[in-house]
Amino acid sequence: METIKTLCPYCGVGCGLEVVPDKKQSWKVRGDRNHPSSQGMVCIKGATVAESIRSDRLLYPMMRDTLDQPFRRASWEEALDAIVNRIQTIRSTSGPDALCVYGSGQFATEDYYVAQKLMKGCLGTNNFDANSRLCMSSAVSGYVQSFGSDGPPCCYDDLELTDCAFIIGSNTAECHPIVFNRLAKYHKKNPNVKMIVVDPRRTPTAEAADLHLAIKPGTDIDLLNGIAYLLLGRQAIDPEFIEECTANFSAFAEVISSYTPEFVASRCGITVSELETAANYWEQSQRVLSLWSMGMNQSSEGTAKVRSLINLHLMTGQIGKPGSGPFSLTGQPNAMGGREAGGLSHLLPGYRFVKNAEHRTQVEEFWGIAPGSISPNPGRTAWDMITGLETGEVELLWIAATNPVVSMPDLERTKAALLRSPFTIYQEAYYPTETSAYAHILLPATQWSEKTGVMTNSERRVTFCPGFDTPSGEARDDWSIFAEVGRRLGFAEHFAFENSAEVFTEYAQLTRGQPCDMTGLSHEYIRQEGPQQWPCRENEPVHPANEAKRLYTDRRFHTPDARARFSAYHSRGLAEPPDPNYPFVLTTGRVYGHWHTMTRTGRTEKINQLHPDPFLEIHPRDAAKLQIKEGDLLEVRSRRGKAQFPAKLTKAIAPGTLFVPMHWGSLWAEGAEANAMTHAASCPDSKQPELKACAVQLVLVGSE
Ligand code: SF4
Repeated sequence: METIKTLCPYCGVGCGLEVVPDKKQSWKVRGDRNHPSSQGMVCIKGATVAESIRSDRLLYPMMRDTLDQPFRRASWEEALDAIVNRIQTIRSTSGPDALCVYGSGQFATEDYYVAQKLMKGCLGTNNFDANSRLCMSSAVSGYVQSFGSDGPPCCYDDLELTDCAFIIGSNTAECHPIVFNRLAKYHKKNPNVKMIVVDPRRTPTAEAADLHLAIKPGTDIDLLNGIAYLLLGRQAIDPEFIEECTANFSAFAEVISSYTPEFVASRCGITVSELETAANYWEQSQRVLSLWSMGMNQSSEGTAKVRSLINLHLMTGQIGKPGSGPFSLTGQPNAMGGREAGGLSHLLPGYRFVKNAEHRTQVEEFWGIAPGSISPNPGRTAWDMITGLETGEVELLWIAATNPVVSMPDLERTKAALLRSPFTIYQEAYYPTETSAYAHILLPATQWSEKTGVMTNSERRVTFCPGFDTPSGEARDDWSIFAEVGRRLGFAEHFAFENSAEVFTEYAQLTRGQPCDMTGLSHEYIRQEGPQQWPCRENEPVHPANEAKRLYTDRRFHTPDARARFSAYHSRGLAEPPDPNYPFVLTTGRVYGHWHTMTRTGRTEKINQLHPDPFLEIHPRDAAKLQIKEGDLLEVRSRRGKAQFPAKLTKAIAPGTLFVPMHWGSLWAEGAEANAMTHAASCPDSKQPELKACAVQLVLVGSE
């Protein structure tokens, strides 16, 4: 059998994989040397992904009437009938806004496209959101507000062309390992290249930096404004770029005028000298590349943080050029594809917006549906679906390829809401997960190896991912399940797809003339020519390489006047700062080997050996005050919930701050759920919850 070229289904780096048959019903995976993003490299997750293909798969539909009953096996026919009947009843009695679908960055682009077409185009509600809301929606709103459109402007080749990498809110070494490998190799070979890491923890990423700014949690905007103050004071700016290509500079300059080094250093908990060194590195670099991820996005002021970072690039003209620009690192393998295909509740396909009347008309005409079919109101976001269950406004929740009973904030509240759900459908490849316990109907979905589709990685590169394995049991592709429900609801002509290639072809046509134009792409084209960056227009099969590599090379943005917008923000700080009752800031994050809620990696032996248990990092000084020793069992309590972890004493975490990994749910470590403590306060623009910080107290419950 020929070698299959596909994509790693874990993180947004999007490493190319080669898969070859190993033993009977088993596969061997290695890095694809010809994949331009990863150049043959893979981390432990990609290398071991085949281990989880067969384990604990959901093999056939299961149903029950109430959550206290056991599941019974059902046929697809029975399950689909129940779903369709329920949707019809709710739609006619309570209206379409009582229906919600909550999808996933694990979806292929085709899955997203069909699901949101069903909800937004046919059922008349924009209540289709995805777990990407918890991951990168602040990056989306930051790009849109600053540039007039979403879309990371940079590419991975910039990692090896920069003079200074400014990494903020990203433990790249552990969470996007192959991006970091490329950068770290280049940094090591080029002593003049600088690496700045901004992170309250001394992570492996920070260890590799020339400068680690261990700022207090929530002070990112202070720091960014402080660097801007110094650059402006030194006239280390690009006046021509500011004049010709931007707007709102004076409001920005006014805001940063109070961010003196002394003020910023004291706000951020760093020294003036550290701040000045960061500004020096920016000033001395022709090309600065900023990388960020959850530490910026998962914040109640996530959009403001992203835009404050973009300000630095606008004032220095560091965008649209090799080795420079603001570059968000996407969490999931196809969160980018979701952004492109309308996979969030405020979006329509092709980077369009449900609020924009012209965009709605374009999509309605393309889909051949009546004018006014698409609601002008943004749908419920991830957390709004939970609150909708609490109030009774949501009567059907269809969750697919995600595990909210581990990943949502404020888990006790999330679980209580799900217990109240009148009808929850859970479409998933694995069983059990923590969420399956809250479902009325379980639908078995194919995964990664079994279905054909495309995924877009963080550098806008679209890779064809062919199904190469027989579906487990009766599992079906996510897109085909949504399409079948659509047909049964009476929308047969809108879901007459024979295969995912046809879905992609329809979707690509809908991107015509949009920033993410993919009209030049098809499954066949990508399969033959290899992964492609967009824009990739029809009749430009060999698209202008530089245009696709980087956006804004022509210095024209997607705003009405083609100018990028400066923003002007003061920080509001943490939504829940520490106080005498809850004196610590708890921050959450990831470890190198595990992925999200461990649905796959919890079933991978090598990764479990590497990271067998959750833990709580505490600074030795805090530990000494509370007489805590290494390995002692600690209970962390917030205003919402509590969890227990063994103590790990380390100077990597600052005094006053605690860290726990977010991966473990009750299936793998009962009572050690990081999100038991977190809260749902969200960014007003992106609606992304502040999963990165909450106030907690600490109690010693058992000594080693
Ligand atoms: Fe997969 Fe991300 Fe690791 Fe690459 S870096 S192998 S995409 S998990």
